[in-house]
Amino acid sequence: MARISNAELDRIKREVSLIRLAESSSIELKKHGKDYLGLCPFHDDKEPSLVISPEKNLWHCLGACNEGGDVIQ
Ligand SMILES: [Zn+2]
Repeated sequence: MARISNAELDRIKREVSLIRLAESSSIELKKHGKDYLGLCPFHDDKEPSLVISPEKNLWHCLGACNEGGDVIQ
């Protein structure tokens, strides 16, 4: 039986938190391949330009902000 390593568990936790964080900030996310797209909360976004990568647990705004970071940022 395959076991999940602690590192893998940590990875999953980090992934969940960023998506959860966005959802709890009432950002609607749409799955787009490996990533999620949503309206950026940091500028007046009309088209989803916020990209969240669960794989890296990073977000990036392709719109006015042109910025990115991790959960804390
Ligand atoms: Zn933005």
